[in-house]
Amino acid sequence: MPEHESMNSISGQVEQAQVFEVFKKMPHEITLLLFTSPGKNDAFCEGARQLIRSIREVAPKVSLREYDLGHKMAHERNADFSPTLLLDPERYNIRWMGAPIGEEGRTFVEALLIMGYRETGLSLESRRILQRIDSSRDIKVFVSPTCPYCPQQAVNALKAAVGRPEIISLEIIDIQAHPEMAEKYSAHSVPQTFANDVLIAQGAQPEELFMASLEKMEQQTVYIPESDAEEVEADLVIVGGGPAGLTAGIYAARSGLKSVVIEKGALGGQVATTPIVENYPGFSQVGGKTLVDIMVSHALEYANIFPGEEVMEIKPGNPITVMTSRRRFTAKAVLLATGAKHRSLGVPGETRLSGRGVSYCSTCDGPLFKGKKVIIVGGGDSAVTEALHLHHIGVDVTLVHRRDTLRAQEYLAKSLFESKIPVILETEVKEIRGQDRVKEVIFLHHPSGESGRLAVDGVFIAIGYEPSVELARKVGVELSPEGYINRDERHRTNIPGIYSAGDVEGGYNQIVTAAGQGSEAALSIFEDLINPYWKRKKSE
Ligand code: NAP
Repeated sequence: MPEHESMNSISGQVEQAQVFEVFKKMPHEITLLLFTSPGKNDAFCEGARQLIRSIREVAPKVSLREYDLGHKMAHERNADFSPTLLLDPERYNIRWMGAPIGEEGRTFVEALLIMGYRETGLSLESRRILQRIDSSRDIKVFVSPTCPYCPQQAVNALKAAVGRPEIISLEIIDIQAHPEMAEKYSAHSVPQTFANDVLIAQGAQPEELFMASLEKMEQQTVYIPESDAEEVEADLVIVGGGPAGLTAGIYAARSGLKSVVIEKGALGGQVATTPIVENYPGFSQVGGKTLVDIMVSHALEYANIFPGEEVMEIKPGNPITVMTSRRRFTAKAVLLATGAKHRSLGVPGETRLSGRGVSYCSTCDGPLFKGKKVIIVGGGDSAVTEALHLHHIGVDVTLVHRRDTLRAQEYLAKSLFESKIPVILETEVKEIRGQDRVKEVIFLHHPSGESGRLAVDGVFIAIGYEPSVELARKVGVELSPEGYINRDERHRTNIPGIYSAGDVEGGYNQIVTAAGQGSEAALSIFEDLINPYWKRKKSE
């Protein structure tokens, strides 16, 4: 196994007990410098201290020195914010403003492993792009402890800073600890990445796209790999790591199929950003991200998972070839569990102010709007769940819906009204205004036909999802008139060996139905692989 692949498995796939072992065996010393000042962000300072202390118990090569911001060391190291954490400052130029708590704990653990082993784990493609960068890059990644996408982007940046320490510096900025800096950069959604103060990415990117954006100094959305880096052979390649894909991974592997799951973004799909799930059997109330973590750990017992890797092309045949941004997979069957992506309103100002007050993820960006006034647009389960979440974290939220009744489940609607969250019905948002951040929305009240305006700091949009069918379309999979994948009762598409499951098929779009479809598809694939339907005679 190439060294960088072994690092991927170190950081991504080892059990907790193994992580301790990996920490213990770390060959290189890492010095952490923590700068704090009493009375300034005490909770974050204590969070950082506690985390580092618990890591030091299992990682003897990690040492911590703490200084007051008034100490001359703070001056020498240019630290003027509490808390500021410098990671191995003799070797790298990496600083953390805030504390690596919540989701960011994952980034921190990964950072220590990368530095302790001095191995970035970058793909061949990423290393190539990184080596081409010929002038300095000062990266800033804005993150939040509640954002499940953020670690992916922060780790991309870390790998760049560790891979080219002579020209790349990195600041990871926690927007909850340092709202002033977020304000200065108008970073009102996370993750958001700047290089030399130029915005180069909104959201989390696959590693190669991040490196390409860093090289070109503007957000890249498509990445064409230069060569096939490596080859992985499997029985089943599952595209998409949401509930459908993860469940399929478990079922297929339990049937004896060597299965891999490839996910370009955050594992768990939409569930990862659902604040609270109340209808998944076995859990009366569970955070969406917690449920995802449980599912991922379970799936890892059976299948290999390749996160942050984008499938670029699928070539049908025997075997089927799946090209990703990093390698080539060959498989007997492919399951498309690509899920759905959020819908946009399509009104003036929405795209321009995205990340500047317009948000599609209340769990990620909600904390930035504490005490501020926002609207949430939509009348379905998502809009109501997210309105409740925003309300509970202290955001002044009003729900705006285009019809006179909500589509959301009765139970959720009842909670909404009991929480006394203002609801404006029969009203459509027509425009979102603001220079460099959201200032107001222009709406149309249907019954009166009158337009109005509302001064707001943020607009959260939760108006449903569209199936992610780009890949299916590219490979020639038939779609329904509504745009979902057409499949038979055994989840077979029109292309032999290619199947589908989950929200990309349409239907009820519940976590439990996606998981059910994933299990059905995996069992159907298993049966077909033993006795391929495309080879069977009509009479069989
Ligand atoms: P949804 O059920 O499709 O609802 C979308 C809402 O947005 C509808 O109220 C719709 O209005 C409105 N809308 C659509 N396009 C619009 C536009 N251009 N302008 C203004 N409003 C627009 O989507 P969802 O709430 O995201 O839920 C998706 C699926 O996930 C559903 O099956 C849902 O049950 C499930 N889900 C479940 C939970 C839970 O169980 N707790 C939580 C989240 C999601 P109309 O009503 O007028 O069509």
